[in-house]
Amino acid sequence: MRLLSTVAFGQGYREQLMSVSMKLTFEPSFVENAVFLAIRRCEEKGSRDLAQKWHAERNRIYTIKDDQVRNKAFKQLDDQWLARLGLRTRFEAILNSFSILQSDSLIIHIQRALARKDEGSELYVQGDVKTNLVKLQTMRLFEGDYVEKFLRHEWLHISDMLDPIFQYSPHVVLSGRSELEDNLIRDRYRLLWDLYVSARLLKMGFYILIPLAQQKQFIDRAFSKWTAEAREKIFQEILDQKHQTQSDFLGLARDEKLTVPLGQGGLLCPLCHFTSFDPLDLSAQQDAVIIKKIQRDYPDWNTDLGICQNCFDLYQSKMRAVG
Ligand SMILES: [Zn+2]
Ligand SMILES: [Zn+2]
Repeated sequence: MRLLSTVAFGQGYREQLMSVSMKLTFEPSFVENAVFLAIRRCEEKGSRDLAQKWHAERNRIYTIKDDQVRNKAFKQLDDQWLARLGLRTRFEAILNSFSILQSDSLIIHIQRALARKDEGSELYVQGDVKTNLVKLQTMRLFEGDYVEKFLRHEWLHISDMLDPIFQYSPHVVLSGRSELEDNLIRDRYRLLWDLYVSARLLKMGFYILIPLAQQKQFIDRAFSKWTAEAREKIFQEILDQKHQTQSDFLGLARDEKLTVPLGQGGLLCPLCHFTSFDPLDLSAQQDAVIIKKIQRDYPDWNTDLGICQNCFDLYQSKMRAVG
């Protein structure tokens, strides 16, 4: 401990470090590599002062004979430099802006990802304790505001999972008819939830992790069976936060609306079986001749099931032709 006395932190700072360190912890290899990269950048940019201090402190620790004591000293040094270089504060600042994550039962652990595909975050629950594992490549710390965009994105997902409004359940059944369909539903659900995350961050005035145009492309691809206007509609609805729960997004991902008749909140025209996005209001036409005419061809049909504009127009023109 004596070796570390060269690092002069104010008492106030030390106290703050103690209290947040209980909630926000870092994997030693993340800290070690992040500090190493930051020091190297200092050297590259010609600010050798900090780098020299760091090397000097490390050299002193190298002289410790006992392996365990030496390793512990290295770890403590890394932790101190994570704070000293302003890296730790970047995580704390974002974390503090998520009120739902302030719960005492939540622990957040930042881990080092070695590849882009490993980056992300997950929530584990064991009894009363919830743990959020966040995996991030250390080089992200030096890519402008990537870390801030990434953390806001991930922590809004985690906030949703803890927020009663979202009604998150870890045990949802995807209800696909095959593994392939399950995968498609899962992919779509993620895309829609990502968009919902982005929509709220944009509204708060933040930059987002995935550009909107790119998210639109992903959604267009994942919902390629829908018409362009249907995709545009859902995109806009999510931006306007019209869907807010896990089951809303799962329902959309499952394409549930495609199998429900127009008149009952779905998108299926019961006559032509095509998808339609502008259901007609038939309430004023209950007894109209055209209704009787349709029912003659489709005995099971009634106005409650709805009809698409095309089918309605078709009947209207048939009647005109006859009349
Ligand atoms: Zn996401
Ligand atoms: Zn139709």
